[in-house]
Amino acid sequence: MKRFVLALDQGTTSSRAILYDQDARAVSQAQVEFSQIYPRPGWVEHDPEVILDSQFKAARRCVDQAGVMPADIAAIGITNQRETTLLWDRHTGRPVYNAIVWQCRRSAPQCDRLSAAGYTEEIAARTGLVVDAYFSATKIQWMLEELPGVREQALSGRLAFGTVDTWLVWNLTLGAVHATDSTNASRTMLMDLDRRTWDPRLCELLEIPASLLPDIRPSSGFFGKIADGVPGMERFAGIPITGIAGDQHAALFGQACLTPGSAKNTYGTGCFLLMNTGKQRVRSRSGLLSTLAWEIPSGACYALEGSVFNAGSAVQWLRDELKMVESAPACSALAATVEPADDLYFVSAFTGLGAPHWDMYARGLLIGLTRGTDRARIARAVLDGIAYQVADLIDAMEQDAGMRLTDLRADGGASASEPLMQFQADLLDCRVDRPADIETTALGAAFFAGLAVGFWDGLDTIASLRRTGKVFTPAMEADRRTRLRAGWHRALERAKAWEE
Ligand code: ADP
Repeated sequence: MKRFVLALDQGTTSSRAILYDQDARAVSQAQVEFSQIYPRPGWVEHDPEVILDSQFKAARRCVDQAGVMPADIAAIGITNQRETTLLWDRHTGRPVYNAIVWQCRRSAPQCDRLSAAGYTEEIAARTGLVVDAYFSATKIQWMLEELPGVREQALSGRLAFGTVDTWLVWNLTLGAVHATDSTNASRTMLMDLDRRTWDPRLCELLEIPASLLPDIRPSSGFFGKIADGVPGMERFAGIPITGIAGDQHAALFGQACLTPGSAKNTYGTGCFLLMNTGKQRVRSRSGLLSTLAWEIPSGACYALEGSVFNAGSAVQWLRDELKMVESAPACSALAATVEPADDLYFVSAFTGLGAPHWDMYARGLLIGLTRGTDRARIARAVLDGIAYQVADLIDAMEQDAGMRLTDLRADGGASASEPLMQFQADLLDCRVDRPADIETTALGAAFFAGLAVGFWDGLDTIASLRRTGKVFTPAMEADRRTRLRAGWHRALERAKAWEE
């Protein structure tokens, strides 16, 4: 009887590996950070070899620390930074360029071209996405257009495209498997969201040869076995890879948001909110993305997704630029000394506002200052500002989906903040449930992999394995909530359209 499932979590700034036992408890974890490459302002790259090395090192360390034999591992699940784009040579396995990271803005001109040609609506209808440099398709286009000889090589069938999951699987199988899962594929802007297949019309429109594209498979199922002699992973030979999902999708699953109307929000540098909308894809009227939640043998499940560009980063700003607090936990402790106020607001629109406000020209704002405003009140306004933005997103989601949020499951670094979590529950008038283990992304990947090999036997088991750490119950009067949110919306209006 195999005792563990190993999750590989290949993130934007680090690669992690976590080993889970049958109770879904993390018995060991390791993290290896790696460096970011910024060749020009707005451009972000990763070295594809460094992605592999760091991920494999994390896997070895994780297993060594636990003293576990790879023979005890039933399956491996992979979760990854989404949208990040690689092209490599099928014969040599060598990348033609660095990985272009999701944050990279270099393909904005390709996006402008698509928008100017009037394709925005058609692309949204097919993919559920807004045309943006964030997604993989225009990053591939950039490589085909800008790198000498690459289009010719692509047309001759020599090259393979992959997001990071595909790159890992290709290398772990020594080139035998060229596959992705449907959640990662849903972020390329090349997948037909209803059919979950590559869309030939989009490939034609973007002049992307279909021969580049990997197979699309369900998130839970057999992808391949780790081959003999993968450099750095020799010990793991033979272990099956049976789960793959993009990081936010894995977190939704790891939070066991398995029923329509359930949602998770990750409170990190930014926030990522996903709401399960069930078997039906929902079209958003507020600029939220429609995306795949996951696809498992029992069927596909859809989600709405929205993000807050600046959340925990506002806390970092208080700490690093204003030097008003020593640390993020100190900010939270300071904020907890005062009550949320309806006369002082902070809008963290450092880089504009995303859904549902969509104003690239909005900028940050602190309003309502009086002679009595002190550090504690400002810290409070900064934390509360995160919760208001999440509440606005949730309102938009509820309207789009025609569903009421049942409970909000929280994770990410800033979910450690008690005043933030309580205020979120108060604002939403809904329970906020923080799990005991906030590493929900890796856990979700483990769940997908474990389900496929019978390590866990079904969704009921998954739901029972999620352990609540703390529940924040709403305790605010309705009038006060209304007054606070009205003040927030006044502040927000003043932050909009600032930059000319
Ligand atoms: P990411 O994965 O985006 O790098 P994390 O999930 O690690 O982010 O969360 C880190 C963010 O959370 C930072 O922006 C930090 O300011 C914020 N943060 C961490 N701990 C706290 C806390 N106790 N109170 C408020 N914010 C916090």
